[in-house]
Amino acid sequence: MKGTFPVDRFAQMRTPFYYYDMELLRATLDAIKKEANQHEGFVVHYAVKANANPKILLAIRQAGLGADCVSGGEIEASLKAGFPSSKIVYAGVGKSDWEINLGLDNDIFCFNVESIPELEVINELAAAKGKVARVAFRLNPNVGAHTHANITTGLAENKFGIAMRDMESVIAEASKLHHVKFVGLHFHIGSQILDMGDFQALCNRINELQDQLERHHIRVEHINVGGGLGIDYQHPNRVPIPDFKAYFDTYAKRLKLRQGQTLHFELGRAVVGQCGSLITRTLYIKEGATKKFCIVDAGFTDLIRPALYQAYHKIENICSDEPIEAYDVVGPICESTDVFGKQVDLNRAQRGHLIAIRSAGAYGEIMASQYNCRKLPQGFTSDEII
Ligand SMILES: *Cc1c(COP(=O)(O)O)cnc(C)c1O
Repeated sequence: MKGTFPVDRFAQMRTPFYYYDMELLRATLDAIKKEANQHEGFVVHYAVKANANPKILLAIRQAGLGADCVSGGEIEASLKAGFPSSKIVYAGVGKSDWEINLGLDNDIFCFNVESIPELEVINELAAAKGKVARVAFRLNPNVGAHTHANITTGLAENKFGIAMRDMESVIAEASKLHHVKFVGLHFHIGSQILDMGDFQALCNRINELQDQLERHHIRVEHINVGGGLGIDYQHPNRVPIPDFKAYFDTYAKRLKLRQGQTLHFELGRAVVGQCGSLITRTLYIKEGATKKFCIVDAGFTDLIRPALYQAYHKIENICSDEPIEAYDVVGPICESTDVFGKQVDLNRAQRGHLIAIRSAGAYGEIMASQYNCRKLPQGFTSDEII
């Protein structure tokens, strides 16, 4: 089964470009809201780093999600898209002063703090403005996610977060500082997680930590479990919307929320991954000694995931119904890693055929670069094109 695209409308367009199916994005957002709203106190934020295209941000803001930012630039992009600052959270191991000041000036909801030196700087900068910054501590729960090694973040060896054994001392430290207010705990164990057991392990760890804090009479208002829910890269047509029910139900069932506590989520990939495709044109079919290459005009400058993480993306020839042949689908960049897929089954391709690289809505357009002096790809929505 192939995806459906307005191929006639694409015909005149300069390639490569990202195409976003807004109907699917809106259906995904509806599913998130429906499932999260089954549970009291669940608040969903969108991890802006997955895709900061203004048209995508606008749709997500309109659906009522908050914004999870990891840089000052993302805070600016979120504010520009109309996210209220009261719904903006800001995480990151290396926040620079201007970024912290931007958050303070806009009274964002919360800084997710990853070290004591950072806490001290936020306190100092807030003091200079006569403000009190709300802070949550990002703890490293030492929970492994069964995903690619480069995208696990919750192991003790990773650079992220504060070690669990330091939890109480950082909370005590915060209580001594007058310009920060401790409001919560933050976690994020990794990305592209499809095994609910990984999220269960995180819930168990948080339950232990909460018991520990309770013994010291420390109250936590907000628990933030980060994001990480994966998508089905193999079957974007069959499974266009991730199983949000299983995801939220896992937390509802396993995590022991205390009276009045709010549970925050920061979903990135699961929100935007499936709605985006990279559309590229076949330049040449090259017959190699042992195989055929389908050389396209997109490269890893447009979509780096295959080169960076050996990520799989389903690839379709959307201009042909001819018999299937196997091709290595490669880009024009002068690097051997510029390969989108090896021995990919495509309907027979020829020069000019449009190729869709699917499930590219997350960590696609936003990670594009200009290596080889290439142009950045543009992003178009189905609202604009149809
Ligand atoms: C990247 C990131 C997310 C989103 O991750 P996804 O796998 O795209 O859901 C959420 N929270 C933090 C802190 C992150 O760094």
